[in-house]
Order: sequence, then C-alpha cells, then structure tokens
Amino acid sequence: MRKVHGNDSFQRMNFLYQISKQIAPKYPVLSAYYGNLVINVAKKMVLKIHPDMKRQICKKCRCILIDGETAKIKIKRKNKSKYIVWTCDICGMKKSYPADENKDHRVWSEKPESVVEVIH
Ligand SMILES: [Zn+2]
Repeated sequence: MRKVHGNDSFQRMNFLYQISKQIAPKYPVLSAYYGNLVINVAKKMVLKIHPDMKRQICKKCRCILIDGETAKIKIKRKNKSKYIVWTCDICGMKKSYPADENKDHRVWSEKPESVVEVIH
C-alpha cells in the first residue's frame, strides 16, 4: 500500500466514508468505527469534511445514517419552514436540517461552512 500524504486525504476520507456507508446496514458498529476514522483524518489534516458527508455521519456514535437502515427520516413543519429530522437507530441521536435550503439561504446553517473546504 502506498503512503497517504496530505493531498490524498480527501481520497482517503472518501474511501473510508464509502466503506462505512456500505457496511452500515449490516455492521453499524464497524460503520461507526470507519465514521470515526473519517473524522480523525479530517482533524489530523485540518480539513473540512464535505457538508453532505458530514450530514450523513451521526454526531454521537459516528455511524453513517441511511434512511430505513441505520436511521429514520421525518419531515417536520415549523411555521412555514420544513425540517428534515434524522434519528439514528444506533444511539437515538436526533438532528434536523431545513428542507428548503435552496429556496431560502438564510435558514441554511451550514452555508458558511460549505464555502470553505480546505483550510490553508
Ligand atoms: Zn448515532
């Protein structure tokens, strides 16, 4: 195996993320282990995890959240906004995201973060 350098970190994170996603339905504990590795690589290399990727990793147990497999999705309405609520089946952690992020940028909390991907 070749050595992984800084520039390969995104590839490495992607790779670990893909593994984690694939094994999540059968081996949620192992998936959480790989989810942890993704976050550890990001921390070590001071990289920002892609928001889409970050959104799919449980904040608590770091298992990959897949609707109907390791997590459940519910749509909630608050005033006129729609929210997607994810519930992790493994640890019960809940997190919610505005559902209409493309229509109203103000409610998109991860917006500033998604602009910067790499900290130099
Ligand atoms: Zn969890």
